[in-house]
Amino acid sequence: MRATRLISLPLAVVTISMMSHSIAAQQIKPLKSSMNDRVVATPPDSAGIHEIVPEKYEERYAEWKTEFLSTDIGRAQWEMYAHHPRLALTITISDHNPNGAGSGKYKWNDRGELIAATITLGSRVDQGFPSSVYYPVMNALEPFEARKLIGGKVLAATKLAHEFGHVMKISGTRQELYELQVQLVPVYNKIFLSNGHDVDDPRLVELAKKMGGNPVELWEDREYWGEANAMLFLKDRVEKEKFHCRLFARIKQAVEEYAKNYEERFAEIAKEQGAVYTCGWR
Ligand SMILES: [Zn+2]
Repeated sequence: MRATRLISLPLAVVTISMMSHSIAAQQIKPLKSSMNDRVVATPPDSAGIHEIVPEKYEERYAEWKTEFLSTDIGRAQWEMYAHHPRLALTITISDHNPNGAGSGKYKWNDRGELIAATITLGSRVDQGFPSSVYYPVMNALEPFEARKLIGGKVLAATKLAHEFGHVMKISGTRQELYELQVQLVPVYNKIFLSNGHDVDDPRLVELAKKMGGNPVELWEDREYWGEANAMLFLKDRVEKEKFHCRLFARIKQAVEEYAKNYEERFAEIAKEQGAVYTCGWR
C-alpha cells in the first residue's frame, strides 16, 4: 500500500513539497513554486504579520480574512502572529496557482527559532476543492458549497487555516531536520525511480530513517497537520450550522479511508470540539 501510494504521488510534488507546501485544487499538481517572487521579492523581516496584497485583490482578500477572523480560533491564531516576538509572517496573493495556497520561505535564527515564513494564497482560493486523499477536511466542504450552505469565502478561510497549520508545525520543526529533508528527498526519489520502485531497498530504508519517514510519509504528515488546523477553524465556523455533523461525518469518512494512520490527530480535535457527543465521532 505504501509502495503503491509512493508511485501514485507525483514525485516532482514530493520533491517540491519539501520547499513549499502547496494545496492544489482537484489534485496535487506539480508546482515550480507557490511563491510569487515578483510580488514578494524580499519579504519584510520585522516580527508580526505583513500583508502584501496587490490592489486588484484587496477586496476579496479582506473578505477572506474577515471570514477567518469571524472565529475564535482564527482570531487567536492571527493575534499570536500579529504580536509574535520573532516571526515575520508574510501573507500574499498570487495568480500563479489561483485555486491553491502554499507556505514557505522559512528562515531560522542562530538559536534555531523560526523567524520568517510566507503564506501565499491563490487569487481564486475561494474556488476549487483539493482531493480527499490528502485533504479530507477541505474536500469535505464541496457538497455544502454546491448546495450553497457555505460560500467560497469559507473555503478560502479554510485554506488560510490550513496554511497557518503548516506555519505552526514548522515552528516546532528543527531547522537541521527540515534542511536534511530538503536535501535528501531528491536523493531518495532518484534512487526510487532507478531501483524499480523498491521501497525496501536498504539505501532507501536508511534515507527514510534519517529523514524521519519516506517522502510520502513526510508529505502526508505535513498535509494532515494543515488539515488538522483547517478542521479546528471549521469547528468554530460551522458549529451553529444545522449541517455541522454531516460535515464532520464526511471528514471522518475520508480520514478513515485515506488517513487511517493519522486518525488520532483528527479524533483529538473532534473530541475537543465535543463532536464525539454531538455527532457520534468516537
Ligand atoms: Zn498544505
